[in-house]
Amino acid sequence: MTSESFEILDLVEQAVFVRDLHGRIQAWNKASETLYGYSRDAALGQFADDLLGSEYPISAADLLASCVAAGRWRGEVKRVSAQGSAILVQVCLSVRYDPSGNPIYLVETGREVKATSFEQELKLSEARYRNIFQAMAASFWELDFSNVNQRLRALRKSGVSDFRKYFFDNPDVVCELMRVARVVDVNDHTVQLFGRGNKAELLGNLLPVWPDESVHVFVEAMLSAIARKPHYWTECKMRRIDGSIFDALFTIAWPSKDMGGATSMVAIIDITERNRAQEMLQRVQSDFAHAARVSMLGELTASIAHEVNQPLAAIASNADAGLRWLEAAHPQIDKARESIGWILEDAHRAADVTARIRSMAAHRAPERNFVSLDGIIQEALLFIRHELQARSVAVVHNTSVEPPIVLADRTQLQQVIVNLTINAVQALAHNDCSLRKITIQTNVANDKITCSVEDSGPGIDPDHLAHLFDSFFTTKQEGMGMGLPICRSIVEAHGGCIHAENVCPAGGARFSFVLPVPDGEPCAPEGALSQLG
Ligand code: ADP
Repeated sequence: MTSESFEILDLVEQAVFVRDLHGRIQAWNKASETLYGYSRDAALGQFADDLLGSEYPISAADLLASCVAAGRWRGEVKRVSAQGSAILVQVCLSVRYDPSGNPIYLVETGREVKATSFEQELKLSEARYRNIFQAMAASFWELDFSNVNQRLRALRKSGVSDFRKYFFDNPDVVCELMRVARVVDVNDHTVQLFGRGNKAELLGNLLPVWPDESVHVFVEAMLSAIARKPHYWTECKMRRIDGSIFDALFTIAWPSKDMGGATSMVAIIDITERNRAQEMLQRVQSDFAHAARVSMLGELTASIAHEVNQPLAAIASNADAGLRWLEAAHPQIDKARESIGWILEDAHRAADVTARIRSMAAHRAPERNFVSLDGIIQEALLFIRHELQARSVAVVHNTSVEPPIVLADRTQLQQVIVNLTINAVQALAHNDCSLRKITIQTNVANDKITCSVEDSGPGIDPDHLAHLFDSFFTTKQEGMGMGLPICRSIVEAHGGCIHAENVCPAGGARFSFVLPVPDGEPCAPEGALSQLG
């Protein structure tokens, strides 16, 4: 630029400077010297944004692009003067083009936004924030992680890159990080929830409220900050100052730039009551499912008696035969041994039947294991084998190509299969057709495991379709209308869903349920899986 141009710029009251497209300062007027505190000599040739610590409301690249496209840009920019004080500048950037229309440099005029209105804004915003902080019916914590951040930076410098592994291998470091995190402020609700009416008890150290069983939550929160995630939340345990533990929903929001300097906000909600209500609901559902299982056993008494009687009758006749072989004029030891072998086999069969009944009748808390849904179906069919034979119903079980491994309570899922199959058997009884067939099919696709039970019965009255899963809906004279609602509550408790449909206008009913493929499924063969289950 010519010295004449400099002189003209010096006449302008606003801070004006010119930079090339790389951001290097080419011209710097007197008002810029006054506003930013850098002399012309100090400024020329410097990268403007580095020198002034500019913080634009959009990224520098976006700013340049929109400026070049539109010819100008207006907005507020935060800067730091040579004396180190923060200034907010109202900026107007204009683009200068060469005769062929190519941009050559940017001319910036700037005016400081009045400190008073800026500060007032800040104060207002601070007051709003304080108001929210105090008034919300949740526990809020302001935490200073600058010491934690310092140590994390030092660890990174010393070569730590896999922080998860490092924290796992060095629990003492985790304790140290927890020790140096500072509680700066808490709201009144926090004093009520955690304290004994004395806010000072909660300030400073985090350890009194952080029980050992939640150390992993601190680690996960740190890892989320290291991964530059904006926030992290989880359910966990927290400790009151009096030592009592409660269930909490914990959320931490990290400051937008780096963890350094700024404080982080933690919100904690006491969810003890919610968890208690949920546990109660689960207990009632499990009691109900158990009552339905016992009632189903009652309905199957004849079949069960037959199942037990069969091996008992075989035992008696083999024992009889064995005795005869021994009492013969020439005792036949080998034949007698063979009979005793059969007796043993039948005794095991009878024991298996009673074990199956006992596990169905048992009232124990539901437990989740990795089990094969096809294995569960096979066991459920064993359970009602006699019922199926007695009513001349053929069951085809088409197993999935990929093993359908679910994380489930074995007995509860057996109950679903038994309920659906018995319903199908009952529907077939009302059908005059000679083909009495039930097809059970499993399939694994798209992270979902599907199981359908389809019959060749009369199907479902379309008017009933919407009510089948309502409690006490039944069309049977002796029905209770609880089988399908229980199936639904079991399937939903396993994270799945169930629905009913008619196969086609002339076909029977199809009940299908879908369960999620569990995370962390073990790679074990079928045999090993049934042991796991
Ligand atoms: P319940 O068997 O005691 O009636 P459920 O809840 O098991 O109770 O079934 C509710 C109703 O759903 C049955 O009464 C019947 O009308 C209908 N339903 C269930 N399964 C079938 C099926 N396979 N075919 C036709 N209708 C069915």
